[in-house]
Amino acid sequence: MLLMSSLAVLALHTTAQDRFANVEIQAEEVAPGIHVLYGRGGNIGLAYGPDGVFVIDDQYAPLTAKITAKIEEITGGQADFVLNTHFHGDHTGGNERFGEQGALIIAHDNVRRRVIDDNEAPGDAPVITFSDTQTFHINGETVKAIHLEKAHTDGDSIVHFVRANVIHGGDLLFEKALGSFPFIDLNGGGSVEGVIEAVEVIITLSDDETRIIPGHGLLMDKAGLIEYHAMLVDVRDRVQTMIDAGETKEAIVEARPAKAYVKGRERGFIREDRFVETVYDSLMAE
Ligand SMILES: [Zn+2]
Repeated sequence: MLLMSSLAVLALHTTAQDRFANVEIQAEEVAPGIHVLYGRGGNIGLAYGPDGVFVIDDQYAPLTAKITAKIEEITGGQADFVLNTHFHGDHTGGNERFGEQGALIIAHDNVRRRVIDDNEAPGDAPVITFSDTQTFHINGETVKAIHLEKAHTDGDSIVHFVRANVIHGGDLLFEKALGSFPFIDLNGGGSVEGVIEAVEVIITLSDDETRIIPGHGLLMDKAGLIEYHAMLVDVRDRVQTMIDAGETKEAIVEARPAKAYVKGRERGFIREDRFVETVYDSLMAE
C-alpha cells in the first residue's frame, strides 16, 4: 500500500512537471525597455534599465527557471521587484523562488492576506503591500500601481508606465485571442460592476497610442478596451433587465444575453453559460 501511494504521488508530480515541460517563454517588445513575456498563466510585464528590473506577475513555480533565463537574456540581470496584479496562482506561483533570488514582492494588501489564508504559503506572500496606490521612480520612469476595488478579485492592481504609455491591466482584461469570456472571481471578492468600473479607469488613462498588456491574450489598444467595455456593459444590462422582470437564473441563461459575443470566445475556460451565470450571481449579490 505504501509503495502504491508513493507511486501515485510520484505520478502526480510527474504530471505536474509535464504540464510545463513544453512551455516556452516568448517575449514581445511593448516599448523601449518594456517587454511582455508569454508562457503559461498570466502575461508577465518586464521593465528594465540602469536602476533595475521590474517584473509584473510570475506565472507558475515550475516555470521560474525559464522565466529567469528569459529575463537575463533580455535585461542582463535578475528581477529586483515583482509586483502581483492579484492573488491567483497563475500570477503569483513564482513568488517564492523569485523572493529567494532576492526580488522584493509587492502587491495590494488583500493579495498578501489571500495568499497566506487561502494557500497557507507564507513563502509566496508579498513583503511590501499597499492599500490604494504605490509609485515607483525607476529607470527614468514613473510606474504607478493603482488598486481597483472589487473587480476581478478584491486585490487587483493595474500598473501604469506613465512615460512609456504602457498599462498592465492584469485579469481585468481577458483579450479575445484567449478564446474566453472574462473570469470574474466572485469568491475572491470580485464583481461585474467592479470590472466595468476598472476598465473605465484603464480607458481614462489611455490614448490612441497606449499599449495595454492584458492578464491573458495578446496586446490591446484603447479601441479594444472600448469594445470589451461595451460587451461587459451590454451583457450586464441585459441580465439586469431580466432580473428586474423576475426571470429565473435558468431562464436568463437560456435567453443567451451574451450570444452576440460568443464568436471567438468558444475555446476558453469561461464559456458563454458560465459567464452569464457569473454576471447574474454578481448582480444578485449587490
Ligand atoms: Zn486571475
